[in-house]
Amino acid sequence: MNLVFFGPPGAGKGTQAQRIVADFSIPQISTGEILRAAVANGTPLGKQAGPLMAAGKLVPDELVIGIVEERLEEKDCQKGFLLDGFPRTIPQAESLQAVLAKTGKRIEHVVSLEVPDSVIHERMKGRGRADDSPETVQKRLDEFRKLTAPLKAYYEKLGLLRTIDGVGSLEDIYASIKRALKLS
Ligand code: AMP
Repeated sequence: MNLVFFGPPGAGKGTQAQRIVADFSIPQISTGEILRAAVANGTPLGKQAGPLMAAGKLVPDELVIGIVEERLEEKDCQKGFLLDGFPRTIPQAESLQAVLAKTGKRIEHVVSLEVPDSVIHERMKGRGRADDSPETVQKRLDEFRKLTAPLKAYYEKLGLLRTIDGVGSLEDIYASIKRALKLS
């Protein structure tokens, strides 16, 4: 099962993704987590990505594409994977298609968690990440609308988009996701 989780910051991608990977024993590949680890470890990647992340901007496509390409080659991705926070731009999505095609794989479902901006701002108040200040959240939302939202039409055309209402109890949202993926 090869999945992409898609949605604005604060949509609950990470939380719902954790449940899927636990229940279906596939790895969760979060580019945000990988980048935060690189920043914490002071690697060259982290040094490049850190200031952009702190400003609520996307990091350059080449950087994240390289990370994901390497990660997908690892053995634990053979039986499936869940991409959380990647792709975030059309060039990233196109690279992903090309990388997967090389090994005869493809994305089966793109789960789009839909949450209004007002709910996102409310939810972010409860989080403690460095890039969760109201100003940075607004910048991240702007980046999402400008660069990431066009992916919906891209994946819809490919027949892969599964739109989920991301407002409600964690249980109900998880049930909707499983129904959309025909897992329940
Ligand atoms: P996330 O944890 O997915 O919200 O990602 C945190 C931050 O990491 C984002 O605001 C971006 O600065 C950066 N980032 C994560 N994934 C990507 C991606 N696919 N493309 C560009 N930047 C990314």
